[in-house]
Amino acid sequence: MRHLITTAIDACPTGGHVALAFLDVDHFKDVNDTLGHAAGDELLVQLAQRLREQIGPEDMLGRLGGDEFVVLLPHRNAQDAERVAAGITEALAVPLRLGSKLMPMSASIGISLYPDHATDIDTLMQQADAAMYMAKQAGRSTHCMFSVEMNGLAEQRLAMIAALRRAIADNALSLFYQPQIRSCDGAIHGVEALARWHDAALGDVSPAKFIPLAEECGLIEQIGLWSVREACRQMATWRRAGLNIPSVSVNLSPLNFRNVALAARLKDVLTECALPPHVLMLEITEGTFMQDGAAALETMHAIRELGVGLSVDDFGTGYSSLSRLAHLPIRELKIDRSFMRDIDRNAGALTIATAVVRVGQGLGLTVVAEGVETESQRKMLAELGCDVVQGFLYAPALAPVAFERWLIEHCAEQAKAMLGRLDLNPAGVAAVKRSA
Ligand code: C2E
Ligand code: CA
Ligand code: CA
Repeated sequence: MRHLITTAIDACPTGGHVALAFLDVDHFKDVNDTLGHAAGDELLVQLAQRLREQIGPEDMLGRLGGDEFVVLLPHRNAQDAERVAAGITEALAVPLRLGSKLMPMSASIGISLYPDHATDIDTLMQQADAAMYMAKQAGRSTHCMFSVEMNGLAEQRLAMIAALRRAIADNALSLFYQPQIRSCDGAIHGVEALARWHDAALGDVSPAKFIPLAEECGLIEQIGLWSVREACRQMATWRRAGLNIPSVSVNLSPLNFRNVALAARLKDVLTECALPPHVLMLEITEGTFMQDGAAALETMHAIRELGVGLSVDDFGTGYSSLSRLAHLPIRELKIDRSFMRDIDRNAGALTIATAVVRVGQGLGLTVVAEGVETESQRKMLAELGCDVVQGFLYAPALAPVAFERWLIEHCAEQAKAMLGRLDLNPAGVAAVKRSA
């Protein structure tokens, strides 16, 4: 392909253009994982046919490897190239037929332009790649034209990936713990472990930023396994110190569930830390079991077999079918915090929150409400019979030492409240004695 690009550039008259488009199939790995490599190959063949139908006789199509294609468009300016890209996106919108299955398919396309953006092949290819990444960021199934600002963004992203890789290798990530409280009596139900990253140059980087990045660049598998190990190590330390924390919830990415050895790894960690399996809960999102992943489902069943719990996080924001949910080996539903908003002020919001809580209750699952910030939200949830609440009302995620302090204080308050209820404060005890 390189020599074709060189030839096109060399033949480009002054004032003319050559456009280079990089195309990457969206979620191609899912096809391979769920339908097998033969289906994946067949899909790429059909995709190439569709691409060919969208380009002119002078244009050239090449495969860069995997699910990446390059389209060379000689004598085309930015507008022409964008028109071709839009045509490709539209052509791919019609599902492909794989045997008896209709497969929806889309691709992200990045375009760079000779000589406007660069005059050498390597830079043009890098620019088309950066633009393709932007198309992915923009929600996929679209195209993006390279712009100079993308250079800065692409560099920032690479620097952040390098820093994250280093942080993982140096064991510089940490886990903070947020308490989960039982509605019936205010006792601690468990903790959620949330990853934290402080980088000397970048400062505190939010997991909302570095977790998706880790998912894109193949680091999430390591982070997930590290979180499980670290959370279990911390739980073992707390148990040895006599702190009673019934369970720890660890967030795992859908990608962790593609690893069929996950259950075996969990077993090893639990054995190493001498923890019973019910102490560990894994939070997964609806995406984990939505894409019809047979491997993910098998892993989920193996985990349930082991005695480790599975909890569906951010419930209500995905598209899981309720009948599907009933057949999954899960123990807990976490109602997304977006449902807490206005629950105490707006009848509509309360109706929706009620429905979501009832789904969990109907399926016999523990229902956890997250993002509970106010006493009136807590009260409404308690009235709904929501089993567990978690949120800033009690505490944010805390470093282990700060969490220990919080827990001791919380237990002391609990004990005081209980004494009050039993009327067993010293004056109460005296009153009991007198009346006896
Ligand atoms: P999540 O699992 O839904 O975690 C809950 C997020 O809500 C946490 O943000 C938590 O600090 C925040 N939060 C808790 N209580 C409240 C509240 O009352 N009000 C509000 N407004 N927010 C509250 P955080 O720690 O920034 O984590 C963001 C997301 O990053 C998590 O969402 C989770 O999806 C992901 N994440 C964090 N740690 C890990 C990890 O170790 N592995 C993986 N795969 N994902 C992680
Ligand atoms: Ca979570
Ligand atoms: Ca959540």
